[in-house]
Amino acid sequence: MSTIAAISTPNAAGGIGMIRLSGESAVEIASACFQSVSGKPLTALSGYSAAYGAYTDADGSVIDDGVAIIYRAPKSYTGENVAELCCHGGLFVTQKLLRRVLSLGAAPAGPGEFTRRAFLNGKMDLSQAEGVMKVISAQGEAALKAAESTLAGSVSKKIGRVCESLLSAAAALAAWADYPDEDIPAVERGALQESLKENEAALTSLIRNYDAGKCVTEGVPTVLCGKPNVGKSTLMNALSGYEKSIVTAIPGTTRDVVEETVRVGDVVLRLADTAGLREAGDDVERIGVRIAKERLDAAGLVIAVFDGSAPLSPEDEALIALCENKRTLAVINKADLPGAGTAEKIKAAFPGAVALSAKTDDVPALLRPALEALLGTAGLDFTQEIRANERQRSCCETALECLRDALAALDAGVTVDAVNVDIDCALQALLTLTGKRASEEVVKEVFRSFCVGK
Ligand code: GDP
Repeated sequence: MSTIAAISTPNAAGGIGMIRLSGESAVEIASACFQSVSGKPLTALSGYSAAYGAYTDADGSVIDDGVAIIYRAPKSYTGENVAELCCHGGLFVTQKLLRRVLSLGAAPAGPGEFTRRAFLNGKMDLSQAEGVMKVISAQGEAALKAAESTLAGSVSKKIGRVCESLLSAAAALAAWADYPDEDIPAVERGALQESLKENEAALTSLIRNYDAGKCVTEGVPTVLCGKPNVGKSTLMNALSGYEKSIVTAIPGTTRDVVEETVRVGDVVLRLADTAGLREAGDDVERIGVRIAKERLDAAGLVIAVFDGSAPLSPEDEALIALCENKRTLAVINKADLPGAGTAEKIKAAFPGAVALSAKTDDVPALLRPALEALLGTAGLDFTQEIRANERQRSCCETALECLRDALAALDAGVTVDAVNVDIDCALQALLTLTGKRASEEVVKEVFRSFCVGK
């Protein structure tokens, strides 16, 4: 494979810059533009060694000085020969050094190409490669831990266990179906069912973790609704005050869409365009139906606010009806005032409803347990369990569907051949997840979002 090169440090001025080369001629190319103080060429260095010296241009002039590190295949990030040329972190100097190594025969690396080579050389599987990118982009402690655990191979191990079990089931089924005359023990339907069910449970739990992980790493699109004056703004302020809310304005629409983010415990709530909802006025049509309905349909979580000190109104009833079958956190506000029998009615509709006073209570502390229960993030072990990758989740989902088909087929008493087709389809989905049997397209897609130099 060709030797690639890229600036691996950020495209900004900084203390140190680094050009990374990987491929057959990485060390030779690096050596050709480097003059070590000891006089020893880089090509004479063994793996994991470094030399201090000057980077030189074609005419012999010095570009910069710095430390060059050499790795020898297969003991490197990519599994190939690698040279890391560290220099001063100026934009001009890193670009000049990159141009120099390109002129010596290296090709510019594409996005994620170093990590793609690591994957192709068996240094990591696809889920781990995705972990690399998540580590780079993690914005919080929980997200970082989750990414690191994926990178360390926690997904691969879980999927690996399911794959092994499915492979042995498939092999037993195939042998039994293909060689009916041989003395192969018949696959016992009960045992097979049992094993498929165990794998079904393992995949279901993985998918649950992806969903919960997303709440932590990406946030939950949340809609806050309720008729005017129930205390939505007061509630929002209480939440935002807890951990600073970020307001992002996305220009280019007739009215800027505003998204506020609040963090409750480890969960990030993304409240889209709360301004719009808060300004909706007292028209039932507007708050209850026209604006809210579309939003409610798209939301991952609805926070429905009611005034516990006032009787239930038709608007409240309309909102209760709208929230049916939606993941809803009902808040019965103004608990510091005498109740009006509203709380009981709300609790009948939403058993997990929380009564509080947005004005006087510690709102995040009261909402946190209810939120964690609703979103399934309660008790998650962030070093083990968090996943938040749509591609991986959808592979698990496909595998789960195939397993369910296999179980249904077993129940219906169809031939083992047919059951095997379903098991094979589940396996295929899981091998796509880890990249063992992923198509070129899938691999390309994974690395498309990577940055150059990683
Ligand atoms: P919104 O229209 O739903 O956003 O409601 P606001 O947050 O603007 O609140 C309407 C009024 O109710 C304001 O006067 C608040 O001070 C008051 N309010 C909000 N929450 C509480 C509460 O928990 N207790 C009491 N007593 N008043 C509250």
